[in-house]
Amino acid sequence: MNTYRNFIGGKWTESASSRTAPNINPANIDDVIGTIRQGTREEARSAVEAAAEAFRAWRSTPAPARGRIVGKAARLMEENKEELAQLLTHEEGKTIAESRGELQRSINVAEFCAGESRRMNGETIPSELPLNFAYTIKQPLGVVACVTPWNFPVAIPVWKIAPALVAGNTVVFKPASITPATAVRITEIFEAAGIPPGVLNLVIGSGSEAGDEIINHPAVKAISFTGSNGVGIRLYEQASRRGAKVQCEMGGKNPVVILEDADMDLAVESTAQGAFGSSGQRCTATSRAVVIDEVADEFVERVAKRAESMRLGPGSDPQTDMGPSVDEGQFKTVLSYIDIGREDGATLVCGGSRATGDGLDKGYFVRPTVFDHVTPDMRIAREEIFGPVLSVLRVKDFDAAMQVANDCEYGLSSSIFSNDASRIFRFVDEIETGMTHINSPTTGGEAHIPFGGTKGTGIGDREQGSTALDFYTELKVVYVDYTGRKREGNLY
Ligand code: NAP
Ligand code: MG
Repeated sequence: MNTYRNFIGGKWTESASSRTAPNINPANIDDVIGTIRQGTREEARSAVEAAAEAFRAWRSTPAPARGRIVGKAARLMEENKEELAQLLTHEEGKTIAESRGELQRSINVAEFCAGESRRMNGETIPSELPLNFAYTIKQPLGVVACVTPWNFPVAIPVWKIAPALVAGNTVVFKPASITPATAVRITEIFEAAGIPPGVLNLVIGSGSEAGDEIINHPAVKAISFTGSNGVGIRLYEQASRRGAKVQCEMGGKNPVVILEDADMDLAVESTAQGAFGSSGQRCTATSRAVVIDEVADEFVERVAKRAESMRLGPGSDPQTDMGPSVDEGQFKTVLSYIDIGREDGATLVCGGSRATGDGLDKGYFVRPTVFDHVTPDMRIAREEIFGPVLSVLRVKDFDAAMQVANDCEYGLSSSIFSNDASRIFRFVDEIETGMTHINSPTTGGEAHIPFGGTKGTGIGDREQGSTALDFYTELKVVYVDYTGRKREGNLY
């Protein structure tokens, strides 16, 4: 049985911990993929120390040389794309098409970051004094921790590690403990691409021990975290107390607004894609549909029909439309939210239970679920479920739709279906989310476009795109005076 190892200071070593857990295929719980050993606090410390030691040499490696290695990692991901996609589906459960998509996103991000290594420009700024000017340079921070969730266990680590390395930082990577196999493969790819020992370190272990040790280590200058709000806010409080830089991308409760003039085929198809794709386990998943009364009956009927037509099964079967929830904990959480929706008085239109038959009993499958007549105060309208559950909220007009869509602590993504330019652009102005989509699902993003949320979802700089390096660099300002004389003016 494969036991996942840590990668510290350029060496693969098995954890000394005796605490183990099985890595289980969520589509078939009898299928154990490997053994997870929970890395210890001591191992987490040695990973930080290895990263600290490697920093000086890595920071003085020219950025384009660092970028070349990240570019090589992109090519290796491309060469191993199918194997990585299969592993991702096996470990996390998403469909093979979704896994291939995640791999392509990862390749794109690494390619983009490699290119950015030749564009780490500062600016030159004319001075108010004669024979003076100033310029800025971007410098790395030091040891950066990348703490990642299980739902995009390849793409999210890559979109943190690649810019962190290009910027000249050394990295301690703490993946979600339930997706170690993909974390090991990504690390191996960076190793094979030529990352020097200590520059990228992997610690497999629980958040509460290995993770806690890393984020509280004084040598860790910055933490890029993606995950739940509960964990993210606590991590932010702890790390900011010692002045560490923190970036948190957290939960979502993403609304789609459907106006009465919407193309209903498109609205139904896109909402189903956003709500049930990846079994609802995307931070950008559609979890609320805010629908104008006059088209609500039609929308609900059609989206429920679409939900019921989805084929559930193992992600490895190319016929499968939707895979399982990732593990028992997530599976139970989703089912308990379905109970809560019923108890709170929402109307269950379809789904509402685990899926059985055809071998589905062996996995954590939940039937795509639609609740109608959800009101804004209900928990299924407010809390992130992270499963294939759509809450439909009916509203009388556009203003009510905006009010309901924004009545939410999260602010990651959103979308609108309409062909009325004036209401579309009012929506764009007023919607309180970091990303929004017009006539397309709430999900999706591109490697060269910034990604992230507002309100309760996001803290700190945006990830990816033109902004990716902002978080991972410090700006230094340099004043140059070539008068050769004592300063007369500008004495403030
Ligand atoms: P999570 O439970 O918050 O865990 C995220 C990471 O933090 C894991 O590696 C976890 O380790 C670690 N962790 C837990 N406690 C810690 C502690 N005390 N100190 C340091 N690290 C700690 O989130 P998840 O369940 O893996 O992922 C699902 C969540 O991620 C959802 O809320 C989803 O919306 C969010 N998400 C957001 C985005 C975005 O860009 N906004 C993208 C994807 C996902 P363990 O695995 O060992 O617990
Ligand atoms: Mg978790």
